Amino acid sequence: YRAKVSGRNSWQVHPQHNDPAADRLRRVGELRHGIERGELVLHYQPRIELDGGAVHSAEALVRWQHPTRGLLSPGEFIELAEDSGLVRELGAWVLEAAVAEAAGWQPVAGRRLGVAVNLSPRQLGDRNMVRLVTDALQRHRLDPSLLTLEITETALMLDPDAALRSLQALARLGVVLAVDDFGTGYSSLTYLKRFPIDELKIDQSFVAGLGVSDGDEAIVASCVQLAHAIGIHAVAEGVETDAQRASLAALGCDLAQGYLYSRPVPVDEFLRWCAAQG
Ligand code: C2E
Ligand code: MG
Ligand code: MG
Ligand code: MG
Repeated sequence: YRAKVSGRNSWQVHPQHNDPAADRLRRVGELRHGIERGELVLHYQPRIELDGGAVHSAEALVRWQHPTRGLLSPGEFIELAEDSGLVRELGAWVLEAAVAEAAGWQPVAGRRLGVAVNLSPRQLGDRNMVRLVTDALQRHRLDPSLLTLEITETALMLDPDAALRSLQALARLGVVLAVDDFGTGYSSLTYLKRFPIDELKIDQSFVAGLGVSDGDEAIVASCVQLAHAIGIHAVAEGVETDAQRASLAALGCDLAQGYLYSRPVPVDEFLRWCAAQG
């Protein structure tokens, strides 16, 4: 950071404070080291079948165990990872860790338990993605149908034609493809129909409005109907109350996840939770 020294026409180098560019560079370096030093961890949130209440799978949600700032949630570093390109390393680590973990779960209490992984927009455009997924599945011998890849509606619509090609390549592997945060972006139904999607995840902002807002209730109902009309599953995220669960079940929604069942927790806690479900 260079500041003008008062009264003289010369520049002096100062320690990096108040300089957003230097601060960003420092934070990128810190995240790169964090990834290299193994400071990322995955927490898992169960996804439950609304008809019958069985555990279906878990969503893997990344956290950063920062050496001084504590456990950071993705809201505090995913954007930086995406903008700096570090999301390639981060995403590769998440995929590898989640697939390895899920391969070790089989079978849990006599049931097959899947895992869902979030992909960032940049990962979707990464030509290496199909290779990474194929390798991870083969190395850990996980059935592709037990891996769900979640892509936000916004990421899909950034470049729908490129997204379509990536999704087609991923679909050929036999993995499950989900549209995340559905209803918050601007997706065209034409694309939705063309994309090889298996699952719509209804955004938690609409789920929160169940029983409160007639508008949100109508949106959730249409999302479930739309999903079923094109032959795919509907998943509700952010389910916090039993009343929300009951409305979703009445609407025929297939899967639910949210604090009502469990917060995202470390893997051992998740497995104990599963065991306690009987
Ligand atoms: P998402 O995929 O839509 O994940 C759902 C978020 O809602 C998670 O926040 C989860 O902890 C939170 N949540 C779950 N149940 C409830 C509930 O009942 N009530 C409320 N209020 N919130 C609930 P989290 O873990 O902070 O993750 C935020 C976002 O970060 C995720 O949104 C996802 O887009 C992104 N993300 C997480 N892990 C990864 C990753 O490994 N890679 C990439 N690229 N993105 C990730
Ligand atoms: Mg997700
Ligand atoms: Mg979501
Ligand atoms: Mg969301």
